[in-house]
Amino acid sequence: MSDFTHDFLHRFELERAGVRGVFVRLAESWRHVRERADYPPVLADLLGRTLAASALFTGNIKFDGALSIQIKQAGPVGLLFAECGSDGRLRGLARWQGDIAESSGLFHAQPAPLLAITIDNRESNQRYQGLVPVEDAQLAILFERYFERSEQLPTRVMLACGDGRCAGLMLQRIPGHVHADDDADAWNRVGHLLASASERELLTVAPEILLYRLFHEESVRLHAAKPLVFGCSCSRERVAAMLHSLGRAEAEAAVREDGVAEVTCEFCNTQYRFDRVDLEQVFRSGQDVPVAPTQH
Ligand SMILES: [Zn+2]
Repeated sequence: MSDFTHDFLHRFELERAGVRGVFVRLAESWRHVRERADYPPVLADLLGRTLAASALFTGNIKFDGALSIQIKQAGPVGLLFAECGSDGRLRGLARWQGDIAESSGLFHAQPAPLLAITIDNRESNQRYQGLVPVEDAQLAILFERYFERSEQLPTRVMLACGDGRCAGLMLQRIPGHVHADDDADAWNRVGHLLASASERELLTVAPEILLYRLFHEESVRLHAAKPLVFGCSCSRERVAAMLHSLGRAEAEAAVREDGVAEVTCEFCNTQYRFDRVDLEQVFRSGQDVPVAPTQH
């Protein structure tokens, strides 16, 4: 039995149906993300599902880097962002304005904003980005469309958020799997089985029990859990690079009366302080920034 009270990612296969899957549940990491801002409940729900999805989608790809999901627009929800690294570190945030009480109308209808899924591969220094328009649909359906259009991979996604947790369950046809003749409807069958799960089960039931409950006739092979944890990839070097890209005039405009410019990371609240000498070095070298202690 795995310890299902912690944040985890489980990969699994349904061998009879030729389907691979990923199951993710987040509690502690989700709490860290949620508590950074006073999110309206509807937006917190959306952010939790997006965070679970970002972890879910790292399950079936081999990479060394980070996968992010982002929707950016000029509507009530200005930004929705979640990221999960191949090392299992998660972060996320949303920006919004005005009152958000209903789950409809959060995104512009015309023109529909784009949902971007980006994979940054550190090893090869390559970036891959796929886009899908945010049409009037549940998040899980947008993701299914994304995988079918961008990856030509039949995919089922189920997401849940509530009671301090968020979770996701994904099924994907194994590319190139040859089905037995009498098993042509395997994909439809496992889709129906997935649809019989409730959001509450995704949030609360131990993974081996839930997967057995849903797919016991499909020969489930469950891989060991990978732990997930809140973590931010910000650093003094990255903040310095950001200040450099803003330009000298704008960076100097941020210097307060006490001679310090302070930059706070929105993901983790780490504060980075640059005095005039630091800034001088940022703009002289662009890269070689003195690493000073940061205040948390
Ligand atoms: Zn940070």
